[in-house]
Amino acid sequence: MKEHKFMYDIIGVGIGPFNLSLAALLEDQPEINALFFEQTETFNWHPGMLIEGTVMQVPFIADLVTMADPKSKYTFLNYVNEHERMYQFYFLQRLDIPRREYNDYCQWVANDINSCKFGSKVEDIRHSEEGEDHYIIDIMNVESGEQERYRSKHIVMGTGSVPTMPQSFQDLPNEDVFHTAEFLSHQERCRRAKSISVIGSGQSAAETFRELLKEQCEFGYRLDWITRSGFASMEESKLSLEHFSPDYVDYFYQLPQKQKEEVFASQDLFYKGISNHTITDIYNLLYENSIGTNEVNVSLRVLSEVENIRRKEDGISYEINCLHTEKKERFTLDSEVVIAATGYKPYVPEFIHNLTSLLRWDEEGRYKVLGDYRLDKTKETSNEIYVHSGISHTHGVGSTNLGLAVHRNKVIINHLMGREIYKIPEKNVFQTFDV
Ligand SMILES: Cc1cc2nc3c(=O)[nH]c(=O)nc-3n(C[C@H](O)[C@H](O)[C@H](O)COP(=O)(O)OP(=O)(O)OC[C@H]3O[C@@H](n4cnc5c(N)ncnc54)[C@H](O)[C@@H]3O)c2cc1C
Repeated sequence: MKEHKFMYDIIGVGIGPFNLSLAALLEDQPEINALFFEQTETFNWHPGMLIEGTVMQVPFIADLVTMADPKSKYTFLNYVNEHERMYQFYFLQRLDIPRREYNDYCQWVANDINSCKFGSKVEDIRHSEEGEDHYIIDIMNVESGEQERYRSKHIVMGTGSVPTMPQSFQDLPNEDVFHTAEFLSHQERCRRAKSISVIGSGQSAAETFRELLKEQCEFGYRLDWITRSGFASMEESKLSLEHFSPDYVDYFYQLPQKQKEEVFASQDLFYKGISNHTITDIYNLLYENSIGTNEVNVSLRVLSEVENIRRKEDGISYEINCLHTEKKERFTLDSEVVIAATGYKPYVPEFIHNLTSLLRWDEEGRYKVLGDYRLDKTKETSNEIYVHSGISHTHGVGSTNLGLAVHRNKVIINHLMGREIYKIPEKNVFQTFDV
């Protein structure tokens, strides 16, 4: 194993938007030696869902740096300028940029930052008290399989979440039964299918269904959209959006844990529903497709909980066994392709298992997180682990929202530097959440 003796100030694990934002902001702090590792070969933001026509659910102002430093060279506007697209963007007159453009923008930033290392999977992190206290980080070069060891005073974890699939979906051939996270790489398979079912009713389900509906006339498959609940709109009114603010995070953070769970459970529509514009697109397509026939080869099945799916004896299609949630009656649907739009879940990465005794955990097996995004530790050490991922249980509904990532990085940088680099305004929204 190749050992690097240099002591970094901070090493980041995972380069999604959250750590990429931190890496971009740290470029202006020359006294900080930072390094970020990402297991994939290049930056690629949810590549399976970069469907043409999909747009960001936050305004472009929630780019990687603007909320901390609008003068940074890594703003989205500077990306547009550098690509000589200013006038086109100006005439576009939109805040919600295409998701593919956000990805291209992030790639542009990642390619410019020397501290971002791709194709490097973090496999193990341990705490060392030899000499100056520090962390030892073992990484594997994904291409060559070679291992390297790094040292750092602090860690920042930005490892995101993982797609979830119900148990009965998991052992079936991935070519036919897959998660929306893999949609684009399976689009050709969908085009060859006689029938396709999409299960779930969040934004990813709706975007996948819309894309399939657009192509239905050309490829001729039957399309079923199955959901346990209904097709609810995401709560997108401006005063509701204020829940994705530092003010609400601060308010939520100090609630007792039990109350946090209850409040969070009641906020599904802030992030789990479908954007109004996507529902409108789908409705318009259904209407267009039914002109002249008043029939579409589509079923939208609400109140239908999928209990399990099984491969049929014909070896071609799958039996989707459902329960009507109000009538409590069971029924079965057939489909050649089944797409699980069943969401993502936070996870505790394997590579921190050697840190288990250094960290404090709650009864649910989740790490405890301090208000300023440091993991709570069992012993005194100046070595911090800052965290972006898996913090909804402590910091609430905005934890995965891109609009709060830069604020979080301002807090992290101020703590890391031991002084105020960024001002953190106390009041950012019109509402008062606290007494
Ligand atoms: C399809 C989709 C669309 C979304 N759209 C929006 C939106 O419009 N607005 C919004 O506010 N939010 C959106 N979100 C939610 C959220 O902003 C994103 O999930 C965002 O990508 C989270 O950023 P992240 O940096 O935490 O994680 P990720 O983007 O998931 O990145 C984590 C990275 O860590 C890497 N990694 C994990 N383990 C290791 C390891 N051991 N070693 C090295 N690397 C590792 C992974 O490969 C991955 O690249 C969306 C989510 C999805 C799924």
